[in-house]
Amino acid sequence: MENKPIARTLRLLSQLMELHDENPFKIKSLANAAFKVDKLPFPIAKKSPAEMEKIDGIGKSTAGKIVELLETGHIGEMQTLLAATPEGIVEMLGIKGIGPKKIVTIWKDLGIETVGELYYACNENRLIEAKGFGLKTQEEIAKVIEFRMASNGKFLYARVEAEANELFKKIGSLLPGAKVSFTGEYRRCSEIITELSFLVGTPDIQGAIKALTEAALFLDISENETGIKGETENKLLVRIDATAASSFYSELFKQTGTIEHVGAVTARLTGDIEQAESEEAIYEKAGLQWMPPELREGDTFIGKAAVNNLPELITYTDLKGTLHNHSTWSDGVNALEEMALYCRDQLKLEYLGMCDHSRSAFYAKGLSIERVLQQHEEIDSLNKKLNGFHIFKGIESDILNDGSLDYPDEILARFDFIVASVHSNLKMEKEKATARVIKAVENPYTTILGHPTGRLLLSRKGYDLDFKKVIDACAANSVIIEVNANPLRLDLDWRWHQYALDKGVMLSINPDAHRNEGFLDMHYGVLAARKGGLNKEMCLNAFTLEEIKKVFETKKNKVIA
Ligand SMILES: [Zn+2]
Ligand SMILES: [Zn+2]
Repeated sequence: MENKPIARTLRLLSQLMELHDENPFKIKSLANAAFKVDKLPFPIAKKSPAEMEKIDGIGKSTAGKIVELLETGHIGEMQTLLAATPEGIVEMLGIKGIGPKKIVTIWKDLGIETVGELYYACNENRLIEAKGFGLKTQEEIAKVIEFRMASNGKFLYARVEAEANELFKKIGSLLPGAKVSFTGEYRRCSEIITELSFLVGTPDIQGAIKALTEAALFLDISENETGIKGETENKLLVRIDATAASSFYSELFKQTGTIEHVGAVTARLTGDIEQAESEEAIYEKAGLQWMPPELREGDTFIGKAAVNNLPELITYTDLKGTLHNHSTWSDGVNALEEMALYCRDQLKLEYLGMCDHSRSAFYAKGLSIERVLQQHEEIDSLNKKLNGFHIFKGIESDILNDGSLDYPDEILARFDFIVASVHSNLKMEKEKATARVIKAVENPYTTILGHPTGRLLLSRKGYDLDFKKVIDACAANSVIIEVNANPLRLDLDWRWHQYALDKGVMLSINPDAHRNEGFLDMHYGVLAARKGGLNKEMCLNAFTLEEIKKVFETKKNKVIA
């Protein structure tokens, strides 16, 4: 074993000891030894135990640990500490800028156990007020984590968008007169992007490739006869293919859908598509309605396209209001009135559903009963002066371990609507987790099931649920399912939307905003919902103020009856 891995192991041991509040003297001497071993001009593994002890800064106890490591491959003391530490916490020790002291706060005070949760907490502004943190530390941590997430070549759609649009513009201006389009994952609005791809249609393919290469739009550019590829500064793969202008639509079709989708459409083709004048013409030759790129994932929607029955997909401008948002009453950044004015004046919406956290979410300053009543007073007085814009009294009620909601019935009855979400005990096994969620869905006060799996894309899997059972329960109890629009969540996953819609379950595109800019996430929720085939008729927050008031009233009347 070389010095480096030995030094790394000793450092990790010292960090783990600090995490578990062990003797500070021992911790310091181990950290010091780790530093020394790293700098030694000879391999320490070649020395005898007696020689090791004599090296400045090592000493008898550390030498013993190194010998144990060399002989057995691990250090017993470290195995014990590792067993008592969640994997994600150990992972955090490897992140630059967060030492063991901060990690103790993150773990013990904030209840965060994975890097993904930590990232989400940064986004929810949860670190600012924790001991030893501040806005700057929070931002630094978020940046380091984003960098780590990107290092495995996968990116959230939302983190690629700005750069993608920028590149699109540059390509267009480099090749005046050429047809340019996104293709692949990005054109399909996939939630995770592994390659950003473009197609260029031009009479001069070689000229276009030359111009694109010379413009050095990104790094490590290599070219072949049909295009160029390379990567952006943060390692996102980029590809630009060039084709003759006459075969642009045929190529666009082939490069947009998944292999499965393109295969299924191609199998139905009755003629040649090489010179097709539009994508519509290609789908027509396959006896299909034109399919929006978002739907070209597999063959799910082909049956509907064959009978001219594709849903008219929801658009951002269909949204009339926003439900499930957090203000300074719990863990949000903006005051309730600021959020209402932003929605009314900037976003031109008709209503805002406030859903601060409920009392069990202590880490997020969840509202006590007393605070709920105070918030309702504020909402009542704001509603009087907002000129027709309406704030609905909602709550994001924690689903407790046994599936019940977080307040007694007489308090639940005071809300206009209730989003029920799981925030704790995410590791429950499938059957138990399903039963817990279903119990919450069956609660007559539950209006919307919030982020059903708790997943955080690229970082936390979300718990296993029997989706069919949960969706069936929502159908039976007229509960709406949230499409959480935070680009890290997009939960309920679009792959389940059709099943829900077929059962008559409505969806709601909820930003879960914790600050005014958070409302804009509804854009990503719309993209995900389009992939799922949602139309405006089945989207709760596409309802006008009058319509949604009726939905909430009907639900409440059912409880009384
Ligand atoms: Zn939540
Ligand atoms: Zn929330």
